[in-house]
Amino acid sequence: MSDVVVVGGGVVGLSAAYHLVCEGARVTLVDRSDAGQATAAGAGILSGGALSRGTDPLHELAVKAFDYYPALIARLEADDAGDTGYARCPLMLIASDERDRREFEAARAAIFARQAATGRPAPEDLREIAPDEARRLFPPLGDVHGALLSRAAGRVDGRLLARALRRAGERRGVRIRQGSVARVLVEHGRAAGVAVDREELRASSVVIAGGAWSPALTDALDMPVRVAPQRGQIIHLRLAGRPTGEWPIISGFREHYIVAWPGGRIVAGATRETGSGFEPVLTAGGVREVLSQAMRVAPGLAPAEVVEMRVGLRPLSADGLPVLGPLPSVEGAYVATGHGPSGLQLGPFSGKIVGDAVLGRTPDVDLAPFSPARFRV
Ligand SMILES: Cc1cc2nc3c(=O)[nH]c(=O)nc-3n(C[C@H](O)[C@H](O)[C@H](O)COP(=O)(O)OP(=O)(O)OC[C@H]3O[C@@H](n4cnc5c(N)ncnc54)[C@H](O)[C@@H]3O)c2cc1C
Repeated sequence: MSDVVVVGGGVVGLSAAYHLVCEGARVTLVDRSDAGQATAAGAGILSGGALSRGTDPLHELAVKAFDYYPALIARLEADDAGDTGYARCPLMLIASDERDRREFEAARAAIFARQAATGRPAPEDLREIAPDEARRLFPPLGDVHGALLSRAAGRVDGRLLARALRRAGERRGVRIRQGSVARVLVEHGRAAGVAVDREELRASSVVIAGGAWSPALTDALDMPVRVAPQRGQIIHLRLAGRPTGEWPIISGFREHYIVAWPGGRIVAGATRETGSGFEPVLTAGGVREVLSQAMRVAPGLAPAEVVEMRVGLRPLSADGLPVLGPLPSVEGAYVATGHGPSGLQLGPFSGKIVGDAVLGRTPDVDLAPFSPARFRV
């Protein structure tokens, strides 16, 4: 018998399993490796909350999650878990035309108002820059009608991070099982484990971290969790021989962005297809949208080689907030999902704080705004 079964092997479930095992729990993680797993498709932007326009609880979670990254990466390094692609890097909010400019001005006002209220980001980490400087920092840019530079940002490779969390978790004793959880077992109103394929895995606590697929389990527990798949299509390019590792992330234009990585890799993202259903496929319209938005802002990407296209299903909640904490309907059952477009930034920290809740500890963040109880009618 395990103390805890974690359902889902994306970044959120792997983080919960890793943190729980580090605290001495006996953990089994079950993963079905669905096509469309969001973690494997994510662009890897860690915006640090600097350019966040989210609500206060989400902003607070984003800042804490971003601040937690260095400690997590150090811990994974100490566990010899392998590279994660994590690095601090600047992020540039860009307006490329007059329509962008209107949105840019509204965003800039909100960002500076938040800075005045919270002191984040520090004044030296946020400044408006001239178009020439923006193009010097990111040479493929075209017209620039406004640019704001934040130094309080970073990037992480979702696939590498997941592999590192898995490797470190397994070394510390997490048992990983490939399989599909059909339901959570409930006895006398308490979680008692899960049914996997034709077998029962007994445990005293269950963490449902099944990304967009989570409602299939929570609905049966009389606890509707309003999370649905939002498809994202994303394209990996290569600009050989350019010092792309030093280029900032480009953000803020019509929900699209460009993330530069070392070795000439440039990631252009992404569609946000709310209502897509469980169809993790690339579409002609999606690919055209991603390329045309990237090249509208950065026409210098035209000669880049198209290396790979990915598609993932973001677990998007009805109100845009993550869903974290105990399920009020079943003692010992917990949920950690709904991170939408920000799960690579938020997910490692969410896994940790839900793990704290499982262990009866007070998490570093008030979970009340994220409680699944908010969806109860
Ligand atoms: C194109 C794209 C770009 C993105 N860019 C960014 C970004 O730049 N920054 C950022 O912070 N976030 C980004 N995200 C969002 C981020 O990737 C997700 O929010 C995050 O990865 C969600 O992680 P998860 O563990 O909740 O879900 P997932 O990664 O989807 O994992 C869920 C896992 O649970 C398994 N599972 C589900 N049900 C069961 C079951 N019953 N039994 C067994 N296993 C089950 C699935 O098979 C899957 O492996 C992006 C997402 C996409 C698609």
